[in-house]
Amino acid sequence: MKDRKNGFTLIELLVVIAIIAILAGMLLPALNNARDRAKTMTCLNNMKQMNTAVLFYANDNHEFYLPEWMDGKGAWFVLMLPYFNQKYKIMFDCPNFQPPVKFNAINGVPEETSRGPFGYNQWMGVYASGPALRKIGFIKNTGMIVLSDAVWYALISTVSTASSMMNSYIGTVPRHNGDSVNCMYLDHVATVKRSELLNEGNFNKNFRPEL
Ligand SMILES: [Zn+2]
Repeated sequence: MKDRKNGFTLIELLVVIAIIAILAGMLLPALNNARDRAKTMTCLNNMKQMNTAVLFYANDNHEFYLPEWMDGKGAWFVLMLPYFNQKYKIMFDCPNFQPPVKFNAINGVPEETSRGPFGYNQWMGVYASGPALRKIGFIKNTGMIVLSDAVWYALISTVSTASSMMNSYIGTVPRHNGDSVNCMYLDHVATVKRSELLNEGNFNKNFRPEL
């Protein structure tokens, strides 16, 4: 019998390395998946807080929903600001938005405000140059999307079909779990497949206050 010395032979070492490589290969996709899900949840959680802020805003403003824009005051994220104590962080934080938004170290204000991870549906009201302000209880389509993952601060504008939204910068962006978009509805938040969202048959149901 061969006298075995201490330590591994080269073959044994290679086998061990190969096994470790196989195990790591099996584990990495699972880890990536878990990390993706955590990022999706962070984004959804931010939307949930924004949804609460919209309701607080309505409570303070004769039951009118927060509009996408208000002349003299600014965009939705400016109007939402009094309901947060973290400056703009939540309104500009989807972990999958690249490159990430940079915040001013002194006052917490984002360095760019037109480019950002979330777009607000302009059909929720653009005072005084677009659709009228919307009042709680008067929106017929209770399944409409108020805000979603995007690249610009507003959704819709002149876009009126799913395909034009897909080809426009004023549109939803699939940034989660492969091909999904995080959306804030009137009363909940959800992760939705892009194919379900940007579908001509569902377009009005998804984005218009009137069906
Ligand atoms: Zn997101």
